[in-house]
Amino acid sequence: MVRERCEVAAHAGGHLTIDLAAIRANYALIAARVAPALVAAVVKADAYGLGAVPVALALVDEGCRDFFVAQLAEGLQLKPSLPETARIYVLNGLPPGAEASCAAAGLLPVLNSWEQAMAWRDLAVSQQRRLPALLQIDTGMSRLGLSPRDVARLADDTAFFAQVEVKLVMSHLACADTPRAAANDEQLARFEALAGLLPPAPRSLANSAGSFVGPNFHGDLVRAGLALCGAGPFEGLASLMQPALRLDARVIQVRTIQAGTGVGYGLTFTASKATRIATVSVGYADGWPRRLGNRGAAYFDGVRLPIIGRVSMDSMTLDVTALDDGALAPGDAVELIGPHQSLEAVAADADTITYEILTSLGRRYRRTYVGETVHTPSEVTA
Ligand SMILES: *Cc1c(COP(=O)(O)O)cnc(C)c1O
Repeated sequence: MVRERCEVAAHAGGHLTIDLAAIRANYALIAARVAPALVAAVVKADAYGLGAVPVALALVDEGCRDFFVAQLAEGLQLKPSLPETARIYVLNGLPPGAEASCAAAGLLPVLNSWEQAMAWRDLAVSQQRRLPALLQIDTGMSRLGLSPRDVARLADDTAFFAQVEVKLVMSHLACADTPRAAANDEQLARFEALAGLLPPAPRSLANSAGSFVGPNFHGDLVRAGLALCGAGPFEGLASLMQPALRLDARVIQVRTIQAGTGVGYGLTFTASKATRIATVSVGYADGWPRRLGNRGAAYFDGVRLPIIGRVSMDSMTLDVTALDDGALAPGDAVELIGPHQSLEAVAADADTITYEILTSLGRRYRRTYVGETVHTPSEVTA
């Protein structure tokens, strides 16, 4: 059964290689940069498509104990794989009625609204115990978090803090990827003023990019997601990180077409001369952006191979005329993301952001993890 699955995987149209050593190195780099603040790993959306369990376990080896997911379901799924000492926080807070399941699993909600805060307090009262949670304050992004008015109201509610143990007060920056934006300083000032109304607790404001805005943004805990994947919201940040993934597509067929021949759905590309083309087995169903039709590329042996025609669901076609005849054969792999074509470049060509490319990575790829920590037998049983 297992063997059969492996063989199927080996015949996948694309191969995703995830470098856990690079992810650990990226964590260590941010940790060194923001110390004495600690670094939490944001592993929502299956660790941005790279695999929440393997990524989180690699980071546990690097000393990480704080993990953020977006949804309770993600946290419930991750929890059994992590050591008891790891803490999992749910960024979106809880849907009404989910409080008891969250508490029973030992996960901590981020309380984002007055309603969420009261529901968590009510559960604590009904269970006659003090329950831990995080509090988020909206300091200007208007997405999640208590309003300034609710913060002031809560600050006066000593009964609340008797029932709810606030482990962290957090907020989120709207413009962290523009380090000079005035909005960052405004949010920091509002955060400090509002958090100052509440009983003292550790603070967290920065995501990956936010940790590069300035030391006064580090607080006690930085919440890093994208940077761990070796990607940046802008090239400067990405160049500090180690790329953590490589994506290759398998060649299905190579042929030569004559001048005047069209390629792909809608025949949006027409050859102007005899052209050698290759069809590779990755398409938009694999998360490869359809937007890259007639504008993106793949690489083979360092040679750029333009995508011609539209990207189909399961395949796309490359102009491989630049390669020697016979250089590329069915079964060969071409690079889609790797040393010659960064994730940032793919995102820019597709008019999107690296986050979207990562989180769209398909489920059909064969996935290989490299750079795993080698545990001694005593560590494994410890
Ligand atoms: C997703 C998210 C993060 C992580 O952001 P990156 O830019 O990936 O580092 C941090 N904090 C919150 C509230 C988030 O939603």
